[in-house]
Amino acid sequence: QLGNCIGKGQFGSVYKALDLATGEIVAVKRLKVGEDGMLDQEIMKEVALLRTLSHTNVISYLGFIRSKNHINIVLEYAENGSLMSTLKAFGAFPEKLVASFCVKLLNGLEYLHANSVVHCDLKAANILTTKTGDVKLSDFGVSLNLKIKENIDDGAISGTPNWMAPEVIELKGTTPKSDIWSLGCTLIELATGKPPYANMIAMSAMFRIVEDDYPPLPESISAEMRDFLLSCFQKDPDHRPSATKLKQHPWILKHKQQCPSLVSDKSSAVAPSSSFVSFPSSASSTSSPSSQPSTSSSSSSAHCSSPLIRKSSAAAHRFIVTSFAAGCKVCGGTIDDQVTFCEVCSLMCHEHCKSKAFSCPPKVNNQQPSYDVSFPTRV
Ligand code: ATP
Repeated sequence: QLGNCIGKGQFGSVYKALDLATGEIVAVKRLKVGEDGMLDQEIMKEVALLRTLSHTNVISYLGFIRSKNHINIVLEYAENGSLMSTLKAFGAFPEKLVASFCVKLLNGLEYLHANSVVHCDLKAANILTTKTGDVKLSDFGVSLNLKIKENIDDGAISGTPNWMAPEVIELKGTTPKSDIWSLGCTLIELATGKPPYANMIAMSAMFRIVEDDYPPLPESISAEMRDFLLSCFQKDPDHRPSATKLKQHPWILKHKQQCPSLVSDKSSAVAPSSSFVSFPSSASSTSSPSSQPSTSSSSSSAHCSSPLIRKSSAAAHRFIVTSFAAGCKVCGGTIDDQVTFCEVCSLMCHEHCKSKAFSCPPKVNNQQPSYDVSFPTRV
C-alpha cells in the first residue's frame, strides 16, 4: 500500500509504503516504463544488481512488483532520507561527523568493490541514513557490475559531473578507484555543504577536474583529513588507495579511537602510526603538496595529465586548447582531435571556428551561462 511520496529522482518517485502482509514500512521506488523499452532494460539492470547485494551499509532490496505501466522496486526504508536533505536542513557537518560517516561509507564501498561492483554515482544525495545513524549506499541506477562484460567500455559517461573522477570524464575506463575519487568529493560536500567546483557550470567543472592537480580543498580541516582527501584525489587511479586501505588511514583510525562504536572489527583498529608511511598521500604524491591546486592552464605544462596547452584570446572568450572530447558548438561538426574551449562560458569549437563565435553570453544574476545551441551561432 503506497503512502506519501518521499523523494523524486530523474526517472520516477519514491514512496513510503506499508507491506500489508507483514506490517513492515518499506520504500517503493516507482518508475514509469518507457514505450521503447530502453528504460525498462536499465531498471532491470539495477534490480538484477541490487538483489545480489547484502550489507549493512548498502540499502537492502526487498522485492519487485511489475504493473502495466510501472516497475516498483521495494527497498529497505531509511527513515532519515538522504545526507543531502540532512545537509540542507542542518548545514555542513563538523569534521568528526564527516569522519564517522566516512568509516561507514568505506565499509559499504569495500563490500561493493570486493563484489566487483562500482557505484559510479556516489554523492550525498545517494547516501541514505536511518534513525539510528546507519549509513546506506543507494541508487544503483548507473552502477557497473564488472563481472558483466557488456557494461564496460560502453562509451557513455555516467555519474554526476562535480563528483566524477578524471578517468571517467576522459572515458579512460571506470574502476572501483573512480568511487574513491567520488568519496573525496562527497567528504568535501559533507564538510562544506557543496561539492568541489560547485560554482561552475558542468562543462567547466569537468574540464577543471581533468586539468587541475586535485580539486580545491576546504581550508578549515585537519592535516589528517587533508591528507586523506589528497589520497582520494590521486590523478592516476592506480595510485589511489582502495577502500580497504583507506580504512587504515590515520584520519579514520583517529576517529575510530575517539568513537569506539565505529570499530566493528578488531582488525581495523590498528595504531595510526603503523600505516602512515605507506599512504600515497600528499607526501608521496606526484602532485604538488601546496595548499591550493595548481591548474594546468597556467604558463607551465610540466605536470599536465593530458596534452595541452595554448592560450589565446578571441573576442571576450578565454580560449585554451585541450584534448577533451566534444562537438563544435559553432559549426555543429564533430571535433576529431583537439578542442578549443572557452574557460569562461564553456564554448567548445574547432580552432578554425573560434573567430566566428559570438562573444561570451553576459552574466545573468551573477552566473555565467554556458554557450550552447540555444545561443545564436554563426555557421
Ligand atoms: P536519480 O535521479 O539519482 O537517478 P532516482 O530516480 O534513482 O534518482 P533515488 O535517488 O533512488 O531516485 O531516490 C530519490 C530520493 O528518494 C532520495 O534522494 C531519497 O530522499 C528518497 N529515497 C530513495 N530511496 C529511499 C529509501 N530506501 N528510504 C528512504 N528514502 C528513500
